[in-house]
Amino acid sequence: MIHRPSPNHGPRRGGVRPDLIVLHYTAMERDAALERLCDPAAAVSSHWLIDRRGEAFHLVDEELRAWHAGMGSWGAVTDVNSRSIGIELEGDGSQYPAPLMEALTRLLRDIMARRDIHPARVIGHSDMAPGRKCDPGPLFDWRGLAHAGLSVWPEAGEDEPSGTDAALLRFGYPAFVSPQLRLEAFRLRFRPGASGPADAVDAGLAFDLARRFPIDRWDKAA
Ligand SMILES: [Zn+2]
Repeated sequence: MIHRPSPNHGPRRGGVRPDLIVLHYTAMERDAALERLCDPAAAVSSHWLIDRRGEAFHLVDEELRAWHAGMGSWGAVTDVNSRSIGIELEGDGSQYPAPLMEALTRLLRDIMARRDIHPARVIGHSDMAPGRKCDPGPLFDWRGLAHAGLSVWPEAGEDEPSGTDAALLRFGYPAFVSPQLRLEAFRLRFRPGASGPADAVDAGLAFDLARRFPIDRWDKAA
């Protein structure tokens, strides 16, 4: 692990403790990304960056608020930066080399154990900012992460498509965007390549997520 302190941070508002982890891709090479995440003029940062070789860079103390999430929400959380830890992954999402994924697995295991963070609280930037962000993208291995106990993955079942959007809201997808953008964000992560109106497969997956991981479990405690 390499320390590369970024000046781009502030206190977590309201003194809240982070209980969310947001995954990103950098959309640029490691050195350019590190420079940008440490540039006061860019006013962006993350707590961690993992490069394609699996080296982890620590940029912002986890106790502090880094600037990675921007506008968006997850459940009732609208200041996602104050409630989350941000992890940037080198690249544009077109490939996630094994050393990078292994380092991410180790880092998530460590953070989640230290802070008692539930796997359902590990989300993508695309989940909390539908229509605006698409990282970490459709090729990211969410299923593998869930298999390792570091995220969640839905079990297939059939259900009534008309209830899909309500289920997506109950899982945490933002209320401030349209049902169409919620559906697209959900598919990007859980059903890449699917298109057209919500069908019974979307409904089954969405209901399973909402049933096992309802967002009000965390929002009530907040
Ligand atoms: Zn991002």
